[in-house]
Amino acid sequence: MQTSIPASILDTPNGREAEGILRKCVHCGFCNATCPTYQLLGNELDGPRGRIYLMKQVLEGHRPTHRTLTHLDRCLTCRACETTCPSGVEYGRLVDIGRELVEKRTRRSWPEVLARFAIRSIFARPLLVRLALLAGRTARPLLPPGLRRMVPPARRAGRRPAGRHRRRMLVLSGCVQRAAEPRINAAAARVFDRLGVSLVRARGEGCCGAIDHHLTAPARAVARMRRNIDAWWPFIESGAEALIVTASGCGAVIREYGRLLRDDPAYAEKAARVSSLARDPGEAVAEALAADEMALDRLGLNGRGAKVAFHAPCTLSHGLRAAGAVERVLDRCGFERVPVADGHLCCGSAGAYSMLEPALSKRLLERKVEALERGRPDVIATANIGCLLHLRRRASQPVVHWIELLDPSAPGSAP
Ligand code: SF4
Ligand code: SF4
Repeated sequence: MQTSIPASILDTPNGREAEGILRKCVHCGFCNATCPTYQLLGNELDGPRGRIYLMKQVLEGHRPTHRTLTHLDRCLTCRACETTCPSGVEYGRLVDIGRELVEKRTRRSWPEVLARFAIRSIFARPLLVRLALLAGRTARPLLPPGLRRMVPPARRAGRRPAGRHRRRMLVLSGCVQRAAEPRINAAAARVFDRLGVSLVRARGEGCCGAIDHHLTAPARAVARMRRNIDAWWPFIESGAEALIVTASGCGAVIREYGRLLRDDPAYAEKAARVSSLARDPGEAVAEALAADEMALDRLGLNGRGAKVAFHAPCTLSHGLRAAGAVERVLDRCGFERVPVADGHLCCGSAGAYSMLEPALSKRLLERKVEALERGRPDVIATANIGCLLHLRRRASQPVVHWIELLDPSAPGSAP
């Protein structure tokens, strides 16, 4: 794609990066075929090719309108288009740059500004999420059914094993998951303990920065990233083998730390190291099972044979590029995995998307749950807290993180 970006933008790191990405695009439109919003709305400007064109115009100096903002807001940032693109266009990075530019040059309505501020302020703080959950659970009997399903029931995390192993890996506690489903990380700690690895938590870590990053608050996002790196660094220096991230949405952003902090002289090197250590548990458990033939016996699974429908989050498939890792683990562990149609399509959760674009999100959720339940599974499993909570709003089957299926010691986990 030919571009004529003015020097004022081209002389910035983002401008140069955006130009390089735009030049790779050959307008073929293959990406539209896997774009959920293009499939729902059928409008070129609600597909990746049209959005790329809009961003190119803005980079070339055209003034963005509220329409530009709307088409970019409707993008789920699922990055299915990126996986499909035969020319290697890094759409996810381009839309980050494009959104930042459009945000600076347009004006949002006050309700939009307030909603985005409230989401960023509440969901990155576990204490506030806990308080919101407490209020929701207290008022649960009085809530209408639709709202009631949005409040997850409290589930006991169960005992965490003592750090008895020489092999150690860090684990991200994060924000929303820590407050809403502490059992996921506890289950991960028990599973890794059986595999001979102690998961350790670093004091002072918190939200990975994804919420601020996706809601175009880059300075706040980067501040959170630096704070996490500071918290993890002593453990990395003392030999932590990996950073396990049980929410694939957070994992995908931590993999980007190196790139997002590459121009920060104090953090560039450390951020690149952190990114290289970030692992989804699916990747780490798959490796453990491949390296040690006794590992499967040590897991002592009691859920073998259960019918599982696995929803692969976009952040796992297209962000972390770990498509198939969890499915292989579940198959190896003896679960019966039911086929799921259109597995590449987003469930509509997409970070804050379900709150900011509820109508589109609901349509995607309905399609996804219908596809997941078609094979009559006993349980639906996924790998990201956002997808998990979102799917529960409509699913008639239990929805869990897949690592809980490997955790027979957790009270009532596997069916
Ligand atoms: S598939 Fe790739 S090259 Fe083709 S229009 Fe989409 S982004 Fe551009
Ligand atoms: S990121 Fe997802 S929603 Fe956005 S353009 Fe690409 S495929 Fe479509």
